[in-house]
Amino acid sequence: MNDLFLESRLLSDAGAVNAVSMRVEGKPAGFSMRRNGTAGLPEEINRREFLGAVGFDESSVARAEQVHGTNIARVSSPGVSPETDALVTDRGGLLLAISVADCVPILIFDRRKRIASAVHAGWRGTAGNITSKLVQYFYSEFGSAPDDIVAFVGPSAGACCYEVGEEVAGRFPEKSRRKGASRGKYFLDLKSANSDQLTDMGLARMNIEVSKHCTICNLNYHSFRRDGESSGRMMAAIAIG
Ligand SMILES: [Zn+2]
Repeated sequence: MNDLFLESRLLSDAGAVNAVSMRVEGKPAGFSMRRNGTAGLPEEINRREFLGAVGFDESSVARAEQVHGTNIARVSSPGVSPETDALVTDRGGLLLAISVADCVPILIFDRRKRIASAVHAGWRGTAGNITSKLVQYFYSEFGSAPDDIVAFVGPSAGACCYEVGEEVAGRFPEKSRRKGASRGKYFLDLKSANSDQLTDMGLARMNIEVSKHCTICNLNYHSFRRDGESSGRMMAAIAIG
């Protein structure tokens, strides 16, 4: 255990290197991983420290542009995949990384075929069933079997805090939402919506780890909802171990 990132034991035991960086008091910019294009900024130093702790460096990172869509990119080399929110690889030595602050990071691994994936699912991606699409991709592209797939649904906006309007809530099944504090408002459970997509696609509950942590009310995480435009970002990453 360390105080820079958390790790899913389920994924580690299955043979995947995995980590979700945290908000760390005392670190520059709260250990934010946010990118803004200028070298040497605190975030750049943070990323180097985080990646080093995980056993990688920037030159082996594959990233996604993240446009709140449902496109999946299969990658075999480092760099940025445009207009995608889900990365998949069968190449070792490549770290798939996505950036989050309230959106759900989902890390998925086929322990037999050794396929890794990182998904960024905000409400739009979740409503568009990006996680179901990703599992379907494992089945059709790699011939994965449901029982070989393990997944971590990481810390993100929780049903305790994540209040949305009717126009957003209406896109989700009833079991993923409950009435909010005021009329026309609902609390949305993005983590359960995504883990439901995994089980609907045939994954066993015991092969899914869901973080109990809510990024909005737990100060160990960055939160866009809580901190606004100045919010930092966490990095969620996975590689074939
Ligand atoms: Zn909360």
